[in-house]
Amino acid sequence: MGRIDELLASALAEGRDCIGQIALRTRSEGGYRLTHRDDVGRDDLRVSQTPESAREIATYDDAGVYRPLKTAPNLRHGWALHLPDLAAVRAALEYFYPAALALWLAERDGRLQPTAMRETLGRQTGMYRVTGLLTDPQAEALVGELCAQTRCLRAMRWTKTPGGERIASLPATKFDPEHDPAGAGARVMPLLCAEMCNLVVAEARPVVKAAQAAAAAAASPAPAAAG
Ligand code: SF4
Repeated sequence: MGRIDELLASALAEGRDCIGQIALRTRSEGGYRLTHRDDVGRDDLRVSQTPESAREIATYDDAGVYRPLKTAPNLRHGWALHLPDLAAVRAALEYFYPAALALWLAERDGRLQPTAMRETLGRQTGMYRVTGLLTDPQAEALVGELCAQTRCLRAMRWTKTPGGERIASLPATKFDPEHDPAGAGARVMPLLCAEMCNLVVAEARPVVKAAQAAAAAAASPAPAAAG
């Protein structure tokens, strides 16, 4: 059994049977059952038996809209995955929540090295190089909105600068891996965020560009009055 499978086994033994919006249960027939947490008691779910089914389930929300952020709290309902062993569960969870178990294992081992926001923005190239000019107030507003628990279930482990302050516009629960992001108080397997994701970096660009345009407009001389 690999280390991540061992992590899953110990998590279940500890009673951590939820991850994000997913409930993980053992089956009396053997193996495991994954469902949306809202669907645990339902017996009318569409059942699949391969980990790869998770890829399609995770791609669209209940309304059929593409989910660019897999940790957004809009996981589709109405499905169940019946899987034979923890290796299959691990593979399915990798589709649902990419890298989540590896990040948690790294944190448990004391190996997780989050990348500070300034490092992430500072290494951008091409059209995103300008995001390095994002000011702290702009970052607080942007991250406070895009990373709020209503938008993303990950617990933030990165800070603004290496070893520095965290984003002050987010509540303390956003930084607590033990907090159940679904608000149900369950013991969860955490979803960790080790660095600002590409979606937030992409949204930083128009913020900086708009501020630059506003500054340029304010600095340019007013046209002379006709006459
Ligand atoms: S930066 Fe992290 S917490 Fe924020 S939206 Fe991206 S994955 Fe979620």
